[in-house]
Amino acid sequence: MSRRALHTGETLFREHDSGRSAYLIESGKVRIIVGQDEGATALADLGPGDLVGEMAMIDDAPRTATAVALEDSVLLVIDREHLADRVAQTDPVVRALLGGQLKRYRAMLATLRGLDAPETLTDAEDVAAIAKIRLESQLREALERRELEMHLQPLFEIPQQHVAGYEALIRWRHPERGPISPAEFIALAEETSLIVPVGEYMLHEAIAALVAMRKSGMEPLPFVSINVSPRQLREARLIEQLLVWLKEADLPTSAVKLEITESQVLDYGLVSELLGKCRAHGIRVALDDFGTGFSNLSHLRELAFDTVKIDQAFVRDIETAPRAIAMLEAIVALVQAIGADALVEGIESQTQLDVLQRLGCRYAQGYLIGKPMPLAQVLEGR
Ligand code: C2E
Ligand code: CA
Ligand code: CA
Repeated sequence: MSRRALHTGETLFREHDSGRSAYLIESGKVRIIVGQDEGATALADLGPGDLVGEMAMIDDAPRTATAVALEDSVLLVIDREHLADRVAQTDPVVRALLGGQLKRYRAMLATLRGLDAPETLTDAEDVAAIAKIRLESQLREALERRELEMHLQPLFEIPQQHVAGYEALIRWRHPERGPISPAEFIALAEETSLIVPVGEYMLHEAIAALVAMRKSGMEPLPFVSINVSPRQLREARLIEQLLVWLKEADLPTSAVKLEITESQVLDYGLVSELLGKCRAHGIRVALDDFGTGFSNLSHLRELAFDTVKIDQAFVRDIETAPRAIAMLEAIVALVQAIGADALVEGIESQTQLDVLQRLGCRYAQGYLIGKPMPLAQVLEGR
């Protein structure tokens, strides 16, 4: 970082200059002025510790004011490159909000100068960020209006040749956009704490589904497997709440299973705490999406999951690629060797199911067995 010395009356930058740097005042005094001659208005006098010219670091727009030294001053120069990475790393929504504020502020300065407010161009990133804000508030409303729905997808137990349980999958029918993939809105809900009430809602729906299944005479009672996102693990009351609801409904803890997705953010401390709590109460836990990019064998070594859900990627080309079968076989063996049950996701053909049977895999899930469906359909089909 370099320094810049200014004498009294010297100009640091003028309106319309391009803004390559911001400055931190070390000593002296700098006046910010808009307009010229008789029309000039002093906006602020800044002193040691104040930043000057930082707006352009954020929105890269030309200077909308002039800065003049009122005294001999020394400034620390902060180049755009020093800040660009930091600005880029901030949340796009926060960036859009800040950018919007800056635009309004600059428009106000233009009005002060007697000019027309500049055309406010919105870039694609801002549009996407605003769309996110809108979607998030609609999701919040959908939650309140109970527009979110739980679908259930059968989990087939291969040796017994029966449906042993169901995975609870969230569905959102957006009033204008139609059905929105959970892949889109779950990620959004995870960015904020909205996933916490959404997750709680799904827990509640899962319990209600179990009660309805029992009432309709499903015997033995299937289990319901519930997706839990990493953000929910930080809520200490997750398991407590689940236990209370199970008890109120007079359901055994073996009626629910939790699915934790393997990801980069898998937090050992939180997950092992969850595993300990669940084990103590007889709630089973599955590691979801095993083998999809973030795979880490130490997850398997250090965290004692009851079930490992092997991603669809491992069965996709099983009919044609001998290497794919070899890998699947090895992964299933690995899962069994550590005492967990193997479940393979995305089973779409009888050939795939036959392979799983031959490998001694315990569970299969996929369109071949059944697509996710509303509870009413599960109850009808029993
Ligand atoms: P997931 O947990 O891996 O769920 C399995 C996904 O695979 C589901 O997609 C399911 O519909 C799809 N699927 C099942 N069988 C087949 C098949 O044979 N072929 C193909 N091509 N796909 C199959 P869906 O419902 O779109 O859910 C996507 C993801 O959203 C889920 O992946 C899960 O990570 C997340 N998700 C869904 N519901 C919830 C929820 O209530 N809470 C949380 N935290 N995440 C959820
Ligand atoms: Ca899952
Ligand atoms: Ca999965």
